[in-house]
Formats: sequence, C-alpha cells, structure tokens
Amino acid sequence: MFRWIADHRRKKILEKDFPAEWRLTLQKHVLHYLFLNDEERIHLEQLVQVFAEEKIFTGCNGLEVTDEIRVVISAEACMLLLGLPHDLYRNLHTIFVYPSTVVVPEARQSMFSTAPFLVRSEVAISGQAFKRGPVILVWDAVKKGARHPENGHNVVYHEFSHILDMLDGHADGVPALHDKKSYESWSRVCSREFNSLIEKSQKGKPTFLDPYGATNEAEFFAVATEYFFDKPLKMKKNHKELYDILAGFYNQDTAAREKNHRLK
Ligand SMILES: [Zn+2]
Repeated sequence: MFRWIADHRRKKILEKDFPAEWRLTLQKHVLHYLFLNDEERIHLEQLVQVFAEEKIFTGCNGLEVTDEIRVVISAEACMLLLGLPHDLYRNLHTIFVYPSTVVVPEARQSMFSTAPFLVRSEVAISGQAFKRGPVILVWDAVKKGARHPENGHNVVYHEFSHILDMLDGHADGVPALHDKKSYESWSRVCSREFNSLIEKSQKGKPTFLDPYGATNEAEFFAVATEYFFDKPLKMKKNHKELYDILAGFYNQDTAAREKNHRLK
C-alpha cells in the first residue's frame, strides 16, 4: 500500500476517541497497562487503535473474535513497540486465534490451505510466528499470560518478539539493533547468558529464564523478552547486563515502571 494512503487512513482511525470499553478491557486484563504513565498510555492506546483496525483477526476452531480478544492481543503486541518505530509489524497482516491449546499431528503443508498448520510435530503449542505472517495464538494462553505476569510467560510478547527478530530476514535471536556497536555487546552478553542457560538446564539446575530459551538463539530472545516485560525488577537484579541490552533495544525501562507501580 502506498504510504500516504496508510498514513491518511491511520489519521482517520485516530480521530476517533479510544473506546471506553476498550480501556476497561486493558485495565482488567492487561496488567502491564497499569504500569504505564499517562504519556505511555496515550501512545499505547493509539498504537492499539491502528493495530486492531489494520490487522485481520481470524478465529479458528469455532472461536468468535470479540473486542476483548482483539484489544488484549493488540495491546501486548504494541507494548513491544512503545519505544520503537510503530511500523515494525508492517509485514504482518493476519492473526489466527485458537480457543485453546491445539495438538496438531504431522503437518502436511499445502499451498492451497487457508489456515496454516501449526507445527510439524505432535507438540501442544500456544503460539507460532512466521516470517511474513501470520501469527498464531491460543486465546487461553494469551489470557493467562496477560493476567499473571509473575509466571514470566506471555505468548503475545513471545511471538511478536519473533516477528521483530525476523524483520532482518533471520530468526537468529538478533533483531536489527540501533547502532553498530550494540551488536558487539549483544553478542557478548547473549552468548554468555544463552550458554549458561543451556548448561544449567542440562544439569537440571534452577534457572531464571525458562529453559525453553535454551532451544536456540531465537527462542532465547523471545523468552528473554517475556521476562523483560513480566519480571523486569528480578531480571535487572540478577541478570543486569541482559536487562540493559534489552532496555537499550526496546528503548523502555520496564524495571523503573514496575518499581513506580509498586510504590503507588
Ligand atoms: Zn518461540
């Protein structure tokens, strides 16, 4: 689409007030929304308005896509963009939402299938992201993650961080960083943390990040992103360098936000 058409359409979308029911949904279901200051809230609401309007949400297995579903998913996806350029999900058009975790047998990918197959093995998943879209999410898991950040699991943050990672063409756990010298510290800190996660999880030792992050570098970045938004104070305390490079990339100080909220 020509850029000016998109810009013109977005301007129109933003002329409308943010719906009051949507705000209630955010207050009720997206805990992190309550951590934001006024300026950030307004910014997030604008991102949500555009995202919810532009992306196609398709319910699967009989799920009817309600405003609650649209708003919660949009808000969490856009939370990652609060400090980044807003157009980073431009290649993503469709979000498929399943009601609950699906176990899909051996995939037979067909060129003509309308809904993508979820996985290539018999593993229950709560989400999946593809380079040029779509994103697949399981609503049960989304709801749980949005309400209970203390678990450190958030499937929306997880899958959308994969989208950010893949923007440069590779799912390698390194998104496009803001400057050349950031790559050096990214690689140093993430390699160290990634290897230590592999080592500890192989030995069955307790780890801060979910051991799923030891699968590969892309999963490491996605899991670290979940914890950066869900448990920032703990991450900053115990894995400060990892916290710092993520804060630099996302351009957000989630720990300060959590701390302020606790002091309220
Ligand atoms: Zn993943």
